[in-house]
Order: sequence, then structure tokens, then C-alpha cells
Amino acid sequence: MHSFDGHNDVLLRLWRQGNDGVAAFLEGDGKGQLDLLRAREGGMVGGLYAIFVPSEDKSQANEPIEPGTYDIPMPPALELTHAQRATLEMASLLFRIAQSSRGGVRIARSVADIRAAKAAGAHAPVLHIEGCEALDGDLRMLDVLYAAGLRTLGPVWSRPNIFGHGVPFRFPSSPDTGEGLTDFGQALVRRCNEMRVLIDLSHINEKGFWDIARLSGAPLVATHSNAHALCPASRNLTDKQLAVIRETGGLVGVNYAVSFLREDGRRDTDTPLDTVVDHIAYLIDHLGEDGVGLGSDFDGAMIPVGIGSAAGVPNLVAAMRKRQFGEPLVEKICFENWLGVLQRTWGQ
Ligand code: ZN
Repeated sequence: MHSFDGHNDVLLRLWRQGNDGVAAFLEGDGKGQLDLLRAREGGMVGGLYAIFVPSEDKSQANEPIEPGTYDIPMPPALELTHAQRATLEMASLLFRIAQSSRGGVRIARSVADIRAAKAAGAHAPVLHIEGCEALDGDLRMLDVLYAAGLRTLGPVWSRPNIFGHGVPFRFPSSPDTGEGLTDFGQALVRRCNEMRVLIDLSHINEKGFWDIARLSGAPLVATHSNAHALCPASRNLTDKQLAVIRETGGLVGVNYAVSFLREDGRRDTDTPLDTVVDHIAYLIDHLGEDGVGLGSDFDGAMIPVGIGSAAGVPNLVAAMRKRQFGEPLVEKICFENWLGVLQRTWGQ
């Protein structure tokens, strides 16, 4: 079964490793959860490749306040030039991977590009930025990144910036954790609509979500989030949010992060694949059969051992079949639904 995936952080992993990220991706270095070999083994044709700029301050880990709960302090805002430099380095890493791949990796800028890569047996990354810290208020950098291939962005990661506010990682917690979009954020949404750049709602808080729902003319998409009703983490979507995503012909990519899957929010990789399928089934109930895709969070999250890496996606497919999902539905969830919503957003 071929798949297209809504979110991974492999560029961050390779960038942090330094030296030869190109070879590590193309030849596989056995680290992390995603490289070209494991993508091929698992049938992953392509996906949104996030550029995420980490905070320089690493003192984020903390102890649970009470057992079974957590509230990770929000990292400080990033400085523009730092974020721009890191963003260019990670974008360059992806371009160098494509340049060295002898046609095996082709950066996609349209749905036609993704289908062509699939037909050629090539891998198709789409350039995405998770949090717009690298963008200036005049959005000049957006023009440059778009010309380089950027086709999707999340205005915020879980950290405030000039565009808005993300949800802190908190459990249990409503996603309604603070203020909505700033004036810059509203201008960003309008500009993304004009340029037909996909706006990713994963990580934004609930007020920001409703601001975008009101302003945007595009389908609403959360690339890697789950159902709040099944796992009450701040990062997951409420039934009301799912209802409006459905109205716009949008999509949610199911996130394999155990802390956004499990009812108890625990970081325990011994989580059955049935729990992932529970979220998929719930999302289908609320979004319809065209509104659910995959959003693994490979190399950005602790995931069930039953998946383990990009090579393990067939195990999730098997769990869907075991739940009596028909073959056309499995194919939609794994591949076609993502291409459908990208087509509706990008118009090509
Ligand atoms: Zn994320």
C-alpha cells in the first residue's frame, strides 16, 4: 500500500546530526524513524517535510505536576536571523538530498509532481515550515521560500511568534490556551490564500484556529493531530473543530505520537496499533471518509513499537484491514485523501 504522509521532522534530525545528512538519508543510517530506504520499504511515496527551528534553550524537560499530567513550559520566541539561517540550512539539506539522489528524490510542488514521482518509483517530499519564525512581517521571506518550493506552512509551532500563539504541550488540557492571531497572522492567512499555500492548523491554539477558520477560503487542514475526545491533550482537536474542518472539505492527518493517542497521555511506546485505528475511526465518523489521512510525526515523536519507523506503516495498514476497513477506504486514508486536499488547496 502506497502512502503519503502529512508530517515528519527528519530534516531536523539530520540537521542536528551535522556532517553528512545527505548520505544518512539516502543510504539510511539506522537512526531515527525515517530515511529513503525505510520510506521505500514501508511504501511511503512522499510527504510534507517540515523545517522546524528548535529553541536554543534546551531546558524544557520537566517533571509531571501530578502523575498522569504534564505541562511543559513554553520555549522563548526565536530571533529572526537565527530562524532564517536554520531554515535555509534545512532547506538546503533537502535540496542537496534531491540533487544527490539520481532522481530517487524529487521535491514536489504540485499534486501532478507527486503522482509523477510515484509513477517513476521516486520519493516526493513537499517543503513545509512548522512555525513561521523565519518569516518577516512583510512576508518577503515567504516569496523567497515559495520560489524555492515551499507549499505549506504552520503559522505557529507550540511557541508564540509575531503571527500568533501555539498550544503549550499540556495534558489534560483544552486547546483553548490563549490569544488568537495577531494582525501579522491575519495578513499571513490572506497571503497564503492568494498564493494557494496550505495553512497547517496543528499546534495553533483554539482562538487562532477559529480566526483562521473565519478568514481563510481554503480547506482547513491539521497535518498531525488527533481526536481530543479520545486523548485530551492540548494538541488534539475538539469535535467542534472537526465539524468545521469537515465543512470546508479539509483533512486531519493522524499523528502516531503516543502522547497524543493514549487516553492517559503517557509516553509509553507499548501502545497497541488499535489505539491509532480508534482515532482514525473516530476521525472518519466526524470528518467523513475523505477527511482523514496519515500524519506520522516520524523523527518528531515517540511512536508505537508496532510501527517503529517508516518501514512499519504496513503494520498500521494491517490493523485497519483487521478492523474491516475496506480496501478503497484504506487507500484513501493512506494516499488519495492527502492528494485530494492538496489539489483543492493548491489548485493544481
Ligand atoms: Zn509538530
